[in-house]
Amino acid sequence: MNAYRSLRESDPQAFAALKGEMKREEEGLELIASENTVSPAVLDALGSVFTNKYSEGYPGNRYYGGQDFTDVIETLAIDRAKELFGAEHANVQPLSGAAANLAAYVSVLAPGDTVLGMDLSHGGHLTHGHPVTLPAKVYRFVRYKTEADGAIDYEKLEALALSEKPRLMLAGFSSYTRQIDYARFAAIAAKVGAVTMMDMAHIAGMIAGGALPNPVPHFDIVTATTHKTLRGPRGGLILCKEAFARAVDKAVFPGVQGGPHMHMVLAKAVAFGEALRPEFREYAAQILRNAKAMESEFVSLGYSIVFGTTENHMLLIDTVKSRGVSGRDAQEWLDAAGITLNKNVLPDDPRGPMDPSGVRIGVPAATTRGMKEAEMRQIVLWIDRALRSGGRKRELSAIRREVKALCKAFPIYR
Ligand SMILES: *Cc1c(COP(=O)(O)O)cnc(C)c1O
Repeated sequence: MNAYRSLRESDPQAFAALKGEMKREEEGLELIASENTVSPAVLDALGSVFTNKYSEGYPGNRYYGGQDFTDVIETLAIDRAKELFGAEHANVQPLSGAAANLAAYVSVLAPGDTVLGMDLSHGGHLTHGHPVTLPAKVYRFVRYKTEADGAIDYEKLEALALSEKPRLMLAGFSSYTRQIDYARFAAIAAKVGAVTMMDMAHIAGMIAGGALPNPVPHFDIVTATTHKTLRGPRGGLILCKEAFARAVDKAVFPGVQGGPHMHMVLAKAVAFGEALRPEFREYAAQILRNAKAMESEFVSLGYSIVFGTTENHMLLIDTVKSRGVSGRDAQEWLDAAGITLNKNVLPDDPRGPMDPSGVRIGVPAATTRGMKEAEMRQIVLWIDRALRSGGRKRELSAIRREVKALCKAFPIYR
């Protein structure tokens, strides 16, 4: 691993924090469902001189000179994204998932238009119309929910669409473990003349790797992040049908962004290249096997699995119902045990978002470092021990030592 010599010499204070983070990542278990560990090649790209370059505009059509190589890498990223997902058009400039969603809204909506999106506590994302966000102040969001068994009731969704007449119907989630029937969703939107959008931020890598169905053929616009299961740099991506290409590109720049971050675009091209390789299909399949292994271990210990089961890379656990421990305590105790995950609101959670009823657990990062079903079962046993510890330091430190030993056997950066 690159020793960051220049940084170490020129800024020891900043370097010390970097060193701390490197150690934290190597020695701890990362179970935050939205995180992953990028390859050394992606890190190289992110640390490259492309960070120096301004390149407002698109390949072949820029506002500044000197674009010989920015055009090459952006075209490469676009072509690879299109190939990976079978998309007609790709925009690789969004700086984040939130920026991609904002641009997607701007591309098809006028202020005041109605959007149907998934309720936050039922798995939707903040950017899908939560009242604290700017889009919620500009557009009229109406939220749909999941049923007690975890599924979406499409008849209810259709009735809601018929009564609300949305301009845009939005699918996608960040804390939901089931699959969406894309064809059925699109058919409902067609009935009411709504544009369709899927936010596949969490599952983009699973889709790229063929472990989950591809929404791209069914939706007008599909947004994603590149840093979650897709295992690339932090960033956003928009895919769309040709008919929306011009509007989407204009919405990204100059609509909501300035100059693209070309070091990030290079890193996206590299990550998409990695996702096109056969090994990535194996990775996506292993993610699914690992999540199922965790689920069955939790079930055998009597845990309550939210949404009934998992069909992707994450699990939501009702820690209050299962062990009488709040989501916040669970997160804090596990942190002390070297296991990082996040507290999460559950559907119609009676508790607030700062101390909700459960936690979200994801396996993408652990799977990247080579862990398989046996390790997943061990991790669940540690989680259970931590939740039964009452927060006692000695017990949590003991777990932490065992976690560290396992992590040592699965190094991230050799
Ligand atoms: C993570 C996520 C986003 C936001 O991505 P950022 O890069 O953090 O802005 C948007 N939508 C969904 C569904 C997400 O899971």
